[in-house]
Amino acid sequence: PYDVLVVGGGPAGASAAIYAARKGIRTGLVAERFGGQVLDTLGIENFISVSHTEGPKLVAQLEQHVRDYEVDIMPLQRAAGLVPAGRDGLVEVKLESGVSLKARSVVLATGARWRQLGVPGEAEYRNRGVAYCPHCDGPLFKGKRVAVIGGGNSGVEAAIDLAGIVGHVTLIEFDGKLRADEVLQRKLRSLGNVDVRVNGQTTGILGDGNRVTGLRLRDRVGGGEQELALDGVFVQIGLLPNTDWLKGSLALSPRGEIVIDERGQTSLPGVFAAGDCTTVPYKQIVISMGAGATAALAAFDHLIRAEAP
Ligand code: FAD
Repeated sequence: PYDVLVVGGGPAGASAAIYAARKGIRTGLVAERFGGQVLDTLGIENFISVSHTEGPKLVAQLEQHVRDYEVDIMPLQRAAGLVPAGRDGLVEVKLESGVSLKARSVVLATGARWRQLGVPGEAEYRNRGVAYCPHCDGPLFKGKRVAVIGGGNSGVEAAIDLAGIVGHVTLIEFDGKLRADEVLQRKLRSLGNVDVRVNGQTTGILGDGNRVTGLRLRDRVGGGEQELALDGVFVQIGLLPNTDWLKGSLALSPRGEIVIDERGQTSLPGVFAAGDCTTVPYKQIVISMGAGATAALAAFDHLIRAEAP
């Protein structure tokens, strides 16, 4: 069995694997797609100490760093089930391929994915005006016109955040009213460069073949359709943790995030978690890497306290 088995090969999983392997313990890493969301990212300007990098480049460096150590990397493998430790103290991770892996501790780092609008132009203009992360991409739209789609807490927070950087923000909510906390809505309404459109259905993202130029908005009550001229569109309709395969085996929050404490401990003994798949506030590369280190160190602590099998 592994001493530490990491599930996920994004920043959190890579960091956990490096921290574990540096303890000289048997470390494995299973990942469906090494690199995770970073593979889908173009410019990265908030990975502290690196002024600018690009997703695929950072992923290659992450992989090289993991390969500097004796980590048993199992790429292109999808975990499908988790079985809590029995009397032998071993946690079991079942893979979709039918193979089953056993480990004295597990770090879950399966990340998350942004919910998509699913309208024409969205995929085409991703990273070319269509963005999902205001902390990451907000500064790219300095002084420009953007829309934020989604009137929940994350959409309204994004609109407030962006209003301080960009020229103008249009917040679009599908429903008849915003769902964000009242205090956020008050703050939003106090801003001079924000318009709010409720009952608005985005039916398409428009572009010139190179970059976003606007979006098509249908009024769900009045029925008319119009085009808004924009430089960017931030989609804020939810971040979905990749935890469906864990339902029923450990504690998940109502949003499906793995519930962890400040050491990355989950509700199952010997099972830790890190990064975007967890209840950690704020989902970022540096935060995920820190969380991966925390979870691996906590797993190591667990191992040195556990009875010898
Ligand atoms: P992920 O990166 O999501 O990695 C999850 C890993 O788990 C992947 O290897 C995946 O294949 C694997 N996995 C999932 N399910 C399974 C399974 N069942 N079995 C096995 N493996 C599985 N953050 C920044 O800090 N700066 C930025 O500029 C920035 N820009 C971004 C731009 C885009 C377009 C996106 C989508 C995100 C951006 N982020 C940015 C956010 C950042 O990428 C994430 O916070 C970070 O990647 C989370 O790391 P993670 O390791 O927790 O998860």
